[in-house]
Amino acid sequence: MKVLVVEDERKIASLIRKDLEARGFVVDLSHHGDEGYLYATTRPYDVVVLDIMLPGRDGLSILRNLRERGMDVPVLLLTARSELNERLEGLNLGADDYLTKPFYVEELSARIQALGRRGSGSPRSLLKVADLSLNLLTREVLRGDTRIELTNREFVLLESLMRSPGRVFTRAQILDQVWSSDFDPGSNLVDVYVQRLRKKVDGDSADRLIETVRGVGYRVRGPGG
Ligand code: CA
Repeated sequence: MKVLVVEDERKIASLIRKDLEARGFVVDLSHHGDEGYLYATTRPYDVVVLDIMLPGRDGLSILRNLRERGMDVPVLLLTARSELNERLEGLNLGADDYLTKPFYVEELSARIQALGRRGSGSPRSLLKVADLSLNLLTREVLRGDTRIELTNREFVLLESLMRSPGRVFTRAQILDQVWSSDFDPGSNLVDVYVQRLRKKVDGDSADRLIETVRGVGYRVRGPGG
């Protein structure tokens, strides 16, 4: 599988390359938006990873230009926590997935692998687990036909869990993804939010989708569960 990574932070870029190459991917790296765009339009890739803030052409305009040229290669955007509008714009422009910095390289590799397997043409803006669906574009969350109103944090928490159904997230991992790593891991913030989320998502339903794995953490029920 051939991957293009356009990321101007050299340290991050080389970490990404190292991890991807260790998994057998062939990786082209570019630190500049104009060069990255040139690569993306002239060489065949299975997946393209674009940072948003780049010298030269930025990630969103690269994406826009690719789609305008009818190129539907799967694109994953790397976004900063603060770039919520850019993220939404990216999904609107046809990005297939995004990852918020800081992230685990392993997580990025797993996402790239999934995108490569799936091929182009089915954006991942809708996450579904059983009768629960979460739309990244409209931010609408439905359980069956019932609309669920979530706060921003609750939304991000549910999104994190729903991206990997069946996978158990520790409290530290959830803290890291939904807040930032500088929160005291001893606090019960995560538990409080999960309870709140569970109340809204599962309510009195006997069919509970948000599960507690005792002594480990939380997960959304997996495909086999
Ligand atoms: Ca950047």
